[in-house]
Amino acid sequence: MTIAEITKHLETFAPVDFQEIYDNAGLLVGDNAVECTGVITCLDATESVIDEAIATKSNLVVAHHPIIFKGLKKITGKNYVERLILKAIKNDIAVYAIHTNLDNIKKGVNSKIAERLGLQNLQILQPKENILKKLITFTPVDKAEEVRKALFAAGGGKLGKYSECSFNTEGIGTFKAEEGADPFVGDIGKRHEEKELKIEVIFPGYIEQDIIRAMIESHPYEEVAYDIISLGNYHSDVGSGLIGELPEPINEEEFLAKLKDSFSIKVIKHTLLSGKIVKKVAVCGGSGAFLIPIAMANKADVFISSDIKYHEFFDAENLLLADIGHYESEQFTIDLLYEILREKYPNFAVRKTGVNTNPVKYYL
Ligand SMILES: [Zn+2]
Repeated sequence: MTIAEITKHLETFAPVDFQEIYDNAGLLVGDNAVECTGVITCLDATESVIDEAIATKSNLVVAHHPIIFKGLKKITGKNYVERLILKAIKNDIAVYAIHTNLDNIKKGVNSKIAERLGLQNLQILQPKENILKKLITFTPVDKAEEVRKALFAAGGGKLGKYSECSFNTEGIGTFKAEEGADPFVGDIGKRHEEKELKIEVIFPGYIEQDIIRAMIESHPYEEVAYDIISLGNYHSDVGSGLIGELPEPINEEEFLAKLKDSFSIKVIKHTLLSGKIVKKVAVCGGSGAFLIPIAMANKADVFISSDIKYHEFFDAENLLLADIGHYESEQFTIDLLYEILREKYPNFAVRKTGVNTNPVKYYL
């Protein structure tokens, strides 16, 4: 199995198109045509993780954070990023990052945080817009089912918990086949009227090429008429943060104690306790301060995230804001990546890093 096959599977789970515009997810170092000898999952591809990869004969490191984030002009080993790249290349180890694309899906980074707290009725806190598109095409009435089937098989027509969604209206199509054409119906040089169905199907933009291919291959016409329209709709399964409910409401102190315990954390920075009961919990692994207003608008009782600045604690009015640390909030992502690969390749050498890569230490 090549490295490309493994990363393709990761991208089926968390499509690279779902990453944020500033991000740099994907294969960062290495040749993806090479046979994979083993995988290590981690949050940060540090030099110690590369050493671990060498020791365990694993030639693919799958990290959450991209070690290369901006342009590099020299690779001479002057800092930890350059040293890591040199070491990875010298030892034929590929480094792959699955970052905000894994943050932005419902079963991604935040699902692990929610799972630890036993949250129910989960929804994306800030759904993403402009990632859905619509295909409209026109087929002879008796060929419509074939085209619809092909579009659904290619991933079209999925809407929340529903699949095979389409809208169909009957009408009359006209066309005149010119000299040299080979029309499915009608004669050369004569305008033809055909009873057609207009099929409308929604799909995520990143599968556009698959959708067009499926339509053309299943459609009987020589020239297929179709429209692709970009939609401003929100995608309910893609976006930032998650919000859900505790099975049983508890008080704020009980909640913080539960949080501390279930994440094995030493310290939680939080806003003033107001004596309210906690039921609705919003979460965002990593730097999630941008979601404070969204958590408030959604009437969350608590918002768990990290990297929150002094003034942002003031902003969180009537919200118990809990900063548990960046590494701590994302620590279960290592398990998530391991599980995604283990499920697909049960007999393959996949391991979780044994290195704690948290650069933040606490003096207690
Ligand atoms: Zn992070």
